[in-house]
Amino acid sequence: MLNCDLHCHSTCSDGLLPAADVAARAAANGVDLLALTDHDTLDGLPAAQAAAAAAGMRFVNGVEVSIEWQALQIHVLGYAFDRDDAALNDGLATIRSGRVERAQRMAAELAKVGIDGAFDGAMRFAANPSLISRAHFGRHLVDSGVCKDLRSVFESYLVPGRPGYVAHRWATLADALGWIHGAGGIAAVAHPGRYKLSRPEMRRFLTEYKGLGGQAIEVVSGSHTQEHVDTFARLAREYGFLASRGSDFHGPGESYFDLGRLAPLPDGLKPIWDAF
Ligand code: AMP
Ligand code: MN
Ligand code: MN
Ligand code: MN
Repeated sequence: MLNCDLHCHSTCSDGLLPAADVAARAAANGVDLLALTDHDTLDGLPAAQAAAAAAGMRFVNGVEVSIEWQALQIHVLGYAFDRDDAALNDGLATIRSGRVERAQRMAAELAKVGIDGAFDGAMRFAANPSLISRAHFGRHLVDSGVCKDLRSVFESYLVPGRPGYVAHRWATLADALGWIHGAGGIAAVAHPGRYKLSRPEMRRFLTEYKGLGGQAIEVVSGSHTQEHVDTFARLAREYGFLASRGSDFHGPGESYFDLGRLAPLPDGLKPIWDAF
């Protein structure tokens, strides 16, 4: 089976490596087909594509769109779209705007519990300030000794009900799917096992997603346990979704799985890459 890794990040969003280095590393790890999927930006795609071509590796355009569904932040991946599409680029610009202001409010919330200077601290980790994210705050909280690792950051801070969490206006599910499909792309729900949805809520979400033309879900993900893989393989078969596979690599030493180094798709699933 092809080694396809369809989910990873560069310094254009919250990854640690420049886009060209991500592609070169994927090729060195034996990846046959790569998609770079930075959060809410297409900026890294040309450099990643050029580096993939230089290494003789297949590449498809990708993006990870932040959406809000029933007050939860959910991520929808888009693939194989026209990256010059105006509505897609405008839509992503709309959800990027306000990240800096959100970050200032996050820092103000952290200051209330005695953690000062988090805005400047987080910005030091953000190569692209307009994409300032919780990942950059997380790195700062580890670097400054507030937390021992990223996992404990997201247990104690930056999540609903904890200091440093600030709600944000993301895209709607219909917006994200409209932009991706309008640009000729295919959508996939990112790491569905990570959302705090009950089983009936997950079914309601997937039904709505399918009704809006959503075609795929990630089954094998760097954020999934084996139990998640089994659950979402079953749901992909039941709903007739294409199945995707992605490491969600953010950087060496930070991510649980390196590029291309994760299990193959379970048998009996239709791989999304057959549709590219
Ligand atoms: P934002 O787009 O600003 O809401 O930030 C979301 C990013 O924070 C994700 O893309 C991850 O990079 C990071 N993140 C969120 N939750 C976790 C977690 N539990 N562990 C590690 N990183 C996380
Ligand atoms: Mn991220
Ligand atoms: Mn994500
Ligand atoms: Mn991701």
